[in-house]
Amino acid sequence: MSYDLEWTDLPEPAATARSRFEACSELRDLCVHAPPCLHEYETLAAAYQFHLNIAGMGLCRDGMRRTGMTYHGAPQPFPAWPFQGIDDWQSADQSRRDAYNEAERAASAQTVPGMLGIPEFKLTSNGPWLVGAREIDEALDCYQASSPSVRAELDGDDLWAAWLDWLRETVSNGGFTVR
Ligand SMILES: [Zn+2]
Repeated sequence: MSYDLEWTDLPEPAATARSRFEACSELRDLCVHAPPCLHEYETLAAAYQFHLNIAGMGLCRDGMRRTGMTYHGAPQPFPAWPFQGIDDWQSADQSRRDAYNEAERAASAQTVPGMLGIPEFKLTSNGPWLVGAREIDEALDCYQASSPSVRAELDGDDLWAAWLDWLRETVSNGGFTVR
């Protein structure tokens, strides 16, 4: 298992490439475009992604927990897939697919009311999850307010330093997705 993170708001031309890929994969089993939609998207979005293996995410989660950047909570379930099968999905009215996608997106973005920072469940599975800019902003505030000695210890780790850079960069780009 690994974690693939990406800016929520991509700049152009990556944003269009992602939309094209999503629209294509929603409607076709196989992409028939040239260049292939997935390749185009992966190439253009690569600069706005962060990849972690299990151990790397474990280290980041541990540092965030120690500095109060995350909180525990139980996620609400995702909406059930309301289609009979792939044929039904592909032939369905666009509005039915949009409604489902919107409900899934809302579930991905969920937070626990009254809590500050990032819910830890968004960093323990591939969701998909959406970590919003406000959650990241709160988490970074908690980090600044945490013990200087703990911060000094964490900051000595290259992966942790890269993780903090990632959070600071995504806070002004709509947050990030976790898959
Ligand atoms: Zn395609």
